[in-house]
Amino acid sequence: MTQEAAIRAWQWPAARWAVWQLTRRLRLLVTAVIACYAAVLAAAAASLHLRPGDLTAYATLLGFGIITVELTRRSGEPAGLVKDLHAVWYLPAAIVLPPLYGLAAPVPVLVLSQLRVRRALMHRRVFTAAAIGLSLAAASLAFHAAVGPFAASLSGPASPQLRWAFLVACCAALRTMINKFLVVAAIKGSEPAASVRQLAWGREVLYNDVTELCLSVIVAFAVAHVALMITFALPFVILLQRSFRHAQLVDQARIDGKTGLLNAAAWQREAHTEVTRAARAGAPLCLAMIDIDHFKQVNDTYGHLAGDAALAALAAATRALLRDYDIVGRFGGEEFAVLLPDTAITDAGTVTERLRAKLSQITFLARTASGIQLPLQVTVSIGVAALSTSRRDLDELIAAADLALYRAKADGRNLVRLADDASAPAS
Ligand code: GH3
Ligand code: MG
Ligand code: MG
Repeated sequence: MTQEAAIRAWQWPAARWAVWQLTRRLRLLVTAVIACYAAVLAAAAASLHLRPGDLTAYATLLGFGIITVELTRRSGEPAGLVKDLHAVWYLPAAIVLPPLYGLAAPVPVLVLSQLRVRRALMHRRVFTAAAIGLSLAAASLAFHAAVGPFAASLSGPASPQLRWAFLVACCAALRTMINKFLVVAAIKGSEPAASVRQLAWGREVLYNDVTELCLSVIVAFAVAHVALMITFALPFVILLQRSFRHAQLVDQARIDGKTGLLNAAAWQREAHTEVTRAARAGAPLCLAMIDIDHFKQVNDTYGHLAGDAALAALAAATRALLRDYDIVGRFGGEEFAVLLPDTAITDAGTVTERLRAKLSQITFLARTASGIQLPLQVTVSIGVAALSTSRRDLDELIAAADLALYRAKADGRNLVRLADDASAPAS
């Protein structure tokens, strides 16, 4: 390459940042949150009066944050949404110390995570720090505004310490809500099909939130009285952090990343257990195979990213339209498998017919190579088979549902076909 060509080909390094490839809405959200954080950080720094006692308490909390990262480093960090317990150390800094300490606390811990645990996309790390920082700023402001009036207004048997702890818990809850709101908004921006209910209000998520909240109240209380007492909280934080990681990694081994459904192996394991149970109990059960029609054309015309968007949208809708205990998995490339426990074939026919009709109405946005977003719809074909005397295990059910699906395709697609006993393989 000549020098001139090299100069022409040179790009400002920032132009290569992945943040510019985000959709416009998401880019706006990310940059707005980061800019807000920088502004609040600067304002808090300007109003700071350094006091040696505050610095010692901050260094202690930060030290424990760093120890937590180091001692849990080996359990790794899953891709995607990462749940950790660092707020147990940040929140007390925001409550007991001037706001700057709480606001700045996430930065060193996230830098360390980036260097020592996993190289995540830089804008994700910065956004995470900014979202945590802003949520801590809100908790700090709320606490300092309320602590005087709150202590004076309440009378009764509760001790001042108990009232103080109650107020800290309320501020911690506020922090959790704001952080959750920002993070879920970002996830929805990058994965529109993601379920807000599962991200924000899933049972596991709420357990984690409550655990983190309770621990941070105890740590804040300790910091306000004898800072080194927080040493006793460290083993709990480490243990819980490890168990969070373990649960996330187990989940990732079960879940298909593109669709959020069970992956094929996990689906087969769970379906096998359910089929055996139903066969033993003589309970009705059906299996439906769903295949997207002419999906290759979607890929060929609009590109694989559009295909992926369709897969994710259809998977989320399928999951949302079925009952909680129906087992939904991604069986193959563009094929979903659904096990319907306690369902007779006539009911399964009605359910899958409704599903087919609803899926064909879903509009997803396909981004073309030139960046234009086009609304698209696809249809699905469904084959359904029921557990019967001639079909008593999962393999036979899958084979029969596949045969019915083949008939749905042959009859013109966008159809549901039920396997009859004649189409059942010999047992
Ligand atoms: P039919 O109506 O007969 O099912 O036609 P079809 O085009 O859907 O069927 P075919 O089996 O020929 O093509 C399936 C296509 O699904 C081919 C493959 O490129 C695409 N596919 C499989 N997995 C993925 C995926 O994860 N993402 C995307 N974008 N496409 C996928
Ligand atoms: Mg297909
Ligand atoms: Mg197929």
